[in-house]
Amino acid sequence: MKDFSRKLIGWYETHRRDLPWRQTTNPYHIWLSEVILQQTRVDQGLSYYLKFLKLFPTVHDLAGSSEDQVLKAWQGLGYYSRARNLHHTAQLVVEHGQGLFPMNYDGLIKLKGIGPYTAAAIASFAYNEKKPVIDGNVVRVLSRIYGIEHAIDSKEGKNAISQLAEEMIDPRNPASYNQAIMEFGALHCTPRLPQCDSCPFHSSCFAFAKKRVSDFPFKKKKTRVKNLWITYFHIDEPRYVWIRKRGLDGIWKGLYDFPGIESESEPDLGLQLTEFLKSQALKKRDCVISSSEPYLHILTHRRIHARFIHIKTKSKMSNPLSDWIRIAKTNLSQYGVPRLVEKYLAGDSR
Ligand code: SF4
Repeated sequence: MKDFSRKLIGWYETHRRDLPWRQTTNPYHIWLSEVILQQTRVDQGLSYYLKFLKLFPTVHDLAGSSEDQVLKAWQGLGYYSRARNLHHTAQLVVEHGQGLFPMNYDGLIKLKGIGPYTAAAIASFAYNEKKPVIDGNVVRVLSRIYGIEHAIDSKEGKNAISQLAEEMIDPRNPASYNQAIMEFGALHCTPRLPQCDSCPFHSSCFAFAKKRVSDFPFKKKKTRVKNLWITYFHIDEPRYVWIRKRGLDGIWKGLYDFPGIESESEPDLGLQLTEFLKSQALKKRDCVISSSEPYLHILTHRRIHARFIHIKTKSKMSNPLSDWIRIAKTNLSQYGVPRLVEKYLAGDSR
């Protein structure tokens, strides 16, 4: 174990990236960075981390902001329930801890919105507590070096990894050990192109010795991806535009997009347009209508195909649905929107 940690931390000291959340023991900063990095890569995450600290320098600032402000700051990262949880957890920290985070793993894990991974990261990086962090990088590294043959999404696989991670963590330096193993997985023992020839573990790595590196880690479940088609109506009145706030369930809840129709099979756009115009007592000849290119957006469980039908009209909608909101065009940029709507508004067709 000592040898493993010594090699790992030795590698880390030479190869580590200098990142701002590694130069702090402030639990709020560490928590923000971990939540953001669960959602995106380090290069993109860095700008979000700096933006969040600028907009919400303390946990009090984050807790005191509105959900719309947090979602707007999070815009582009996707998986918006993380942003809502972030906001809610900040409110709990302020309400129950006067803005102070619990000072150990057991206290952190009790906070709604903080799971085992994040609690271990804060406990070890902020307080140097001996708690192993287990993310995808750590799972890959340990399963390759120690040849864990169980599927890592099975109960046996999870137990095997968690037991091994507990055994391997360096009790003298848990913070550096955790940073090192995550960084090693992110930069060296990568999913597709691990650098085995220059690896400090190549003489002891099970997967390398057996020429089975690409077999690890094992997985059993394949995520079923469903298709979803969305036809958006970008209703463009002379100074106003119509948007809607997404409901409390489903994808993008709490964000804003345009009125639209969702379906699980490819729709007939012409028919949808005709019905929409009829519902609003609009005549085709009184509008300037264009349709965007299709936009494809891929989430873990969904493949979303979106089209935007741009309708320029001088009339006010006669029959808006109850969740539609009429706003000045100049205010549109203040609303948090899903990434694909952001791309459409930026004219960046995919
Ligand atoms: S030898 Fe290859 S597979 Fe094994 S730990 Fe090193 S980089 Fe990863």
